[in-house]
Amino acid sequence: MTVLAALPATRTDGGPRLEVDLSAVAANTRLFASRTDADVMAVVKADGFGHGAADVARTALAHGATSLGVTSIDEALDLRAHGLRAPVLSWLNPLDAPYAAALAAGVDLAVPSRDHLDAVLRCGRASAPERPGRIHLHLDTGMARDGAEPSAWPALCRAARRAERAGLVQVVGVMGHLGCADDPSDECNALGRRRFAWGLEVARAAGLRPVQRHLAATSATLLDVRSHHTTVRVGAGLVGIDPTGTTPLRRGLTLTAPVVSVRRVRAGAAVGYGHGWTAPFATRLALLPIGYADGLARATEGRAEVLLRGRRRPLVGRISMDQVVVDLGSDEVQPGETATVFGPGDAGEPTVADWATWAGTIEHEVVTGIGARVRRDVLPTHPSAVRSLP
Ligand SMILES: *Cc1c(COP(=O)(O)O)cnc(C)c1O
Repeated sequence: MTVLAALPATRTDGGPRLEVDLSAVAANTRLFASRTDADVMAVVKADGFGHGAADVARTALAHGATSLGVTSIDEALDLRAHGLRAPVLSWLNPLDAPYAAALAAGVDLAVPSRDHLDAVLRCGRASAPERPGRIHLHLDTGMARDGAEPSAWPALCRAARRAERAGLVQVVGVMGHLGCADDPSDECNALGRRRFAWGLEVARAAGLRPVQRHLAATSATLLDVRSHHTTVRVGAGLVGIDPTGTTPLRRGLTLTAPVVSVRRVRAGAAVGYGHGWTAPFATRLALLPIGYADGLARATEGRAEVLLRGRRRPLVGRISMDQVVVDLGSDEVQPGETATVFGPGDAGEPTVADWATWAGTIEHEVVTGIGARVRRDVLPTHPSAVRSLP
């Protein structure tokens, strides 16, 4: 996906196309930076929520973010390979992850257990003895997912402090995560905040002085200033997804597909696999070369629409792997015209939120599910922001 994103925009094949408007990322980053006194870590995991990790990272850093966050070490190394020198934190790795490569590239590592600490220490000694690796201890603040359980936290803090005194690591951060921050009335938020405060006290009592203390992601950044601490980790919000429904963010993706062919059918004509739809009247049908392999969830059958010739028009029949059929009614549409699958919504086209509703999912899954063969064109925020090739 990175390779595709880095292709020059001179490719002319006329298939489905995803346009990424980085000025939306820039505006959203500025909004988040204005909503907090904390530093903004731009979370660009999953290829920057499908928007291009390096492009989103560079844009966010130019508009108020000061560091980057990703899940895996590979994602972090990919940012380095694209020339990004800002601090990068990778927070979810198995015990045999390439810690040595991460430390050599100056990647910060989240450490959720003693075993993970030992793995990092082993690699650190071998790869960069002169430069202690930067780690963030990760506490489970109530999701029973990633991070150390509270019962294991004091011992993890003490072990990390011993390694720090031995000059093997630098504990620069402590992190937690909130599971219900989009609903501020949920008591799980207060529990998570309390547990995090407790975790910081324990770390302090162990002699640690973590300068980056981070708990909030998009929702908590927008709704709960008590969770901000020194740093907020914002991912979805940078690409225009607001799980709280409170904040006008800008959406940056437009997905289009050309009409390959148009046909007239009589009443009773059956469309697609399983004859999932039968024309009740004579009608015209347009074929688009885009399907579930490109990110159009099959579960949207019977609900999904596209914008074509200025009007919303329904997809009919099953969504195939590579193609969908649009019902035009009696309207004329020519092969070569462009259908908008989703966009910011300004021209009446469906939005990512519409697709999420039709599929019974959240916007995050729609934007991270765009297939690799969709051509990506990046609109920079301004000419000097044009990506540099790796
Ligand atoms: C994905 C993720 C984030 C970003 O969350 P958003 O709600 O998308 O801002 C922050 N922290 C962790 C640990 C994550 O996994």
